[in-house]
Amino acid sequence: MPPSRDRPARVLGPVEAFAWPDGARAAVSLTYDDAIASQLDNAVPALARYGLHATFFLTGHADALRASPESYRALVSAGHELGAHTMDHPCARSFSWVKPGFALEDYDSTRMEADLRENRQELQALAQPAPFSFAYPCGATWIGAAHASYVPLVKELFIAARGSNSRVCDPYQDSLFEVPSVPGNLSGSELTAWVERALLVGGWVVFTFHGVAGDYLTVNADAHEALLGYLAEHRASIWTERFGAVARYVAAKRGR
Ligand SMILES: [Zn+2]
Repeated sequence: MPPSRDRPARVLGPVEAFAWPDGARAAVSLTYDDAIASQLDNAVPALARYGLHATFFLTGHADALRASPESYRALVSAGHELGAHTMDHPCARSFSWVKPGFALEDYDSTRMEADLRENRQELQALAQPAPFSFAYPCGATWIGAAHASYVPLVKELFIAARGSNSRVCDPYQDSLFEVPSVPGNLSGSELTAWVERALLVGGWVVFTFHGVAGDYLTVNADAHEALLGYLAEHRASIWTERFGAVARYVAAKRGR
């Protein structure tokens, strides 16, 4: 029986695409962790060549930051975002490089709150306007021997937080206090394939970079450049924007 006027055939289709600004079909955020030298030396000039803005999640006591706070202040004037990543980068004690006394197991909420407040003050001193973004060191959202969640504390102090679940963020569903993110130490074609995945589903892909042509967990210069070139070339369909700005946009759309 053909569908009648009163009983139209049911149409099964994808859910309505999320409305990114200016008709873009996906969002991308480039994030750089730990305040390490190769980012200032290699990532920042590459971003400038392609006219792209990124987020730098700063470990408060990082050597590069202590050596040259003015280099980080300059990032804000250049249109980048500085975000928090704790003062001392605590991770699970099982990592061999975690300093004694600075494992997540050693933190309680009082110590973590003091750390995060200090990290925020530092951002303020570097001229980063509030509200601030956060990235969990090692993607871990817990503290103490009992692995208590510190997400509620992060919600009090920050506008959004990046986690480490490696997939495209669903702007309708995912928590803005544990936004998925993809490790950046991949080849150029692997990096652009993640952006293509985001385009297919209308999602937001957040890349987490560490070393850029140097340091550790390194993406090589060509792969990094390939991604930036792709994003610049597809500006009309891909909204490349700082993490905090995308999170704020998503929150506002959801609130409507
Ligand atoms: Zn880190």
